[in-house]
Amino acid sequence: MEEITALAKRRGFIFPSSEIYGGINGMWDYGPVGTELKRNVREAWWREMVALRDDVVGLETSIIMNPEVWRASGHVENFTDLMVDCKTCKKRFRADHVKGDQCPACGNKTLTEPRAFNLMFKTNVGAMADQSSEAYLRPETAQGMFVDFKLAYQTARKRPPFGIAQIGKAFRNEITPGNLIFRSREFELMEMEFFVPSDDEAEGLRWYRYWVDQRFSWWLNLGVQPERLRKHEYEGADLAHYSSATTDIEYDYPFGWGELEGIAHRGCFDLTQHVNASGKDLSYFDEETKAKYLPAVVEPALGADRALLVFLIDAYEKEEDRTVLRLHPRLAPYKVAVFPLVRNKPDIVELAASIEKDLRPHMRTTFDDSGNVGKRYYRQDEIGTPLCVTVDYESLEKHDVTVRDRDTKQQVRVGLDQLLGYLNERLA
Ligand code: ATP
Repeated sequence: MEEITALAKRRGFIFPSSEIYGGINGMWDYGPVGTELKRNVREAWWREMVALRDDVVGLETSIIMNPEVWRASGHVENFTDLMVDCKTCKKRFRADHVKGDQCPACGNKTLTEPRAFNLMFKTNVGAMADQSSEAYLRPETAQGMFVDFKLAYQTARKRPPFGIAQIGKAFRNEITPGNLIFRSREFELMEMEFFVPSDDEAEGLRWYRYWVDQRFSWWLNLGVQPERLRKHEYEGADLAHYSSATTDIEYDYPFGWGELEGIAHRGCFDLTQHVNASGKDLSYFDEETKAKYLPAVVEPALGADRALLVFLIDAYEKEEDRTVLRLHPRLAPYKVAVFPLVRNKPDIVELAASIEKDLRPHMRTTFDDSGNVGKRYYRQDEIGTPLCVTVDYESLEKHDVTVRDRDTKQQVRVGLDQLLGYLNERLA
């Protein structure tokens, strides 16, 4: 993790938030290269979950919602960790992380009784700072899909089975943020609520299994090493009270196996809660069959930041003479880097600059004329750029360039008139 953290900072993937003021625990910024990677992670998910399907639509709901939403969903009451405080050193610990009655930090036996600590951030809306203006920063995006369920299916003219997907920020006042962006206090969720065409348990389970398989394949298709992925299916008392089946996709992080994504069969729990609390009928009425029902829901949910971390860790490889990120081309921050072989030959620099500019509308590119070519390759390998194009002396006469492959380091000469087609083919 130390190596990944150092690389992430050195190359502009991830910075500590507000570092010049000493940072703030559990908050992170994405640098220039990290921002590109994050966009590609979101895009890879949206493409698979929404764009390539005809049964899922998108939604963007507000971060601050009517606080009644969080009472109905159970978050006000139940979204808590049990905590103990040390009266001597004032540190706070998760009760399940403390053994015996001694403070893990100072050793004194001055711990309070466990108290429920709600993970939701509170804020006030409007000028008044009293209880009537109290609101929460959302700890998940899912509730937006439930409360807008009816508006979404009516306006999109969808009938179950269909899903609503959302990517957006979520906030949790985690007690133990850490491992870089693995667990942070502000993060981005990518969630999809899939509404099953009945409240029937068996039908729900069928879709649940379908989504577990779909989601598992997504990771494999983006190049994650199969031996570092596994499914963990919950049973009995470990299941949330409303869920009849839940699977976590887990990854073998440098700090051990941990959750990467959760797929839950949530039954009719959420819609039922909102029907009861709002008094509004959220059931689906099927014009054709005249059936009226509250659909059961299957939810795949993952953090975009945690996904990004896994892609970084999984792609990271240290070789004898270089560090290389073997990122899938769809995820790589830059697809192609263009270099002039030397800086002091205006014709070469100009040709390289114009090639890079011409490629821009087609793929994310970067230009580099600093240091020598070896150093530039090294830098691009470290940020995972799949292909490097070098313009040299011969290029001026022969109208061709060298294209160098990140993974094999092999170089081939390609004519300028074929360059775009060649690059597209290699990146596909
Ligand atoms: P954990 O038990 O690890 O706290 P959770 O089971 O509460 O997580 P969910 O509510 O199921 O997590 O969230 C779904 C997904 O959101 C997780 O699989 C993870 O990818 C991501 N996620 C959850 N909490 C965080 C966080 N604090 N920082 C970054 N990503 C998170």
